[in-house]
Amino acid sequence: MRHIILTGETACSFSSRVFGSSRLSLHPFLTAGISRIAEMSGENADNLLVRQTLAPLFFFYLPKYANALKEDLLGGDGAKALRHSQLPSFGCGGSLHLKWCPRCVEQDIHDRGVAYWHRAHQVPGVTACWSHQVRLMSTELKARQRLNEGLPTVVDCEAQAASAVEIEVAKFGFGLLAQLERTKPDFDLEAKYRSRLNELGFITSNGSVRRKALMKAFSSDLAMYPMQGSLFPRHQIDYHYISELLAAGKNCHPFRHLLLGAWLFNSANKMFQHTAPIGEVSPHQPKGSTKEEVEQRCLSLLREGYSLAAVYRKTGKSRCYLKRLAALNDIKLNLMPKQLNDVLRQKIIRLAFLGLHRRRISEICGIGLGSVEQAISSESGLVKWRKRCHWESKRRRSRASIESYLRRNSDALRRDVKRYCNAAFFWLYHNDRDWLERSLPEATKPTPRELS
Ligand SMILES: [Zn+2]
Repeated sequence: MRHIILTGETACSFSSRVFGSSRLSLHPFLTAGISRIAEMSGENADNLLVRQTLAPLFFFYLPKYANALKEDLLGGDGAKALRHSQLPSFGCGGSLHLKWCPRCVEQDIHDRGVAYWHRAHQVPGVTACWSHQVRLMSTELKARQRLNEGLPTVVDCEAQAASAVEIEVAKFGFGLLAQLERTKPDFDLEAKYRSRLNELGFITSNGSVRRKALMKAFSSDLAMYPMQGSLFPRHQIDYHYISELLAAGKNCHPFRHLLLGAWLFNSANKMFQHTAPIGEVSPHQPKGSTKEEVEQRCLSLLREGYSLAAVYRKTGKSRCYLKRLAALNDIKLNLMPKQLNDVLRQKIIRLAFLGLHRRRISEICGIGLGSVEQAISSESGLVKWRKRCHWESKRRRSRASIESYLRRNSDALRRDVKRYCNAAFFWLYHNDRDWLERSLPEATKPTPRELS
């Protein structure tokens, strides 16, 4: 989206250049052809897949199909990817919605000058913004979706408050996506569910699930959810619903798991930490293992390229210990480069071209602000381009603030706008006067004072 909006290339030309077909249909959250997009934009394909699509949810909840799905998404086989996502078999393959939060739109325009589609809003079944706790706006995508340029827009109506259960599920989904960006979990989900159910008293002494009590409690808590249909239990005695969720190897729509996960654990973080909190003896390190065995395990993980944090989680060994171990054994660590090299310089320039703030670029690249500035100023034309982007952002933000004020105060006079949106008013007055004149309320004629 950003590429198309910034460069002005048409969607058709983009599709045929990148995917070899101008009539290509793209899925909004299981986008196929990631490798090509990554190549074109100089990004890392795995990063795009894990951070910008909903694929991680499907990998996590449908591990049987994870490899095939990943291959389809990277390779560009959208039809196969959809089959491997199992969505059609859940009866959810056809209807697609694009969702956005009216508050996020305002906030994005204010903070960044442009509103983005948020990934966590697109999770099927999610109806609330995890951050603002309001209902999402939604539009159904009826036709096969070609690439349409467009970003979410400011809407006129007031945002509607979401119910507690919707917010909980939205937060759980957001938290889970964030967790999955950082770690590849290797725990047994079914065991985790059972252990939590046991804590809550839903497991009998001989190990079976008290389905009747469980379904009664679960489905009455879901009563406030505005969406019904195949993703929800049909009634309080829909025992099949819960059996499918608890059986290992059964395919269930990821959203059903989000419902149950949010209900059981409240947050994704708590679910991850439930049975094996960091610091306890890790299941990967049997109690009797010797010092040498632990050392060998650390070494082999480091050689496989795991980050220090990941090895720490798996073995419980500190960063300091691991760094020393790596140095002693000549293992190059997977650390952020601190020196400005050519690869990093290109990355900075690419991010700078996209208009990201210098501080954000510095965070992403793990390098100081000074080096970022140095790289930007050494690229000819880039500073000018960024000024232009910044100007456009400022214009969008100023226009949005006046439009939003006028929507809320339909009988406002010119002088009210000037008073309450002072900064935006004067910026537009100096930079975009035509638009300002067109958008302000009619000037009121000065009334001559009556002669007495
Ligand atoms: Zn929001």
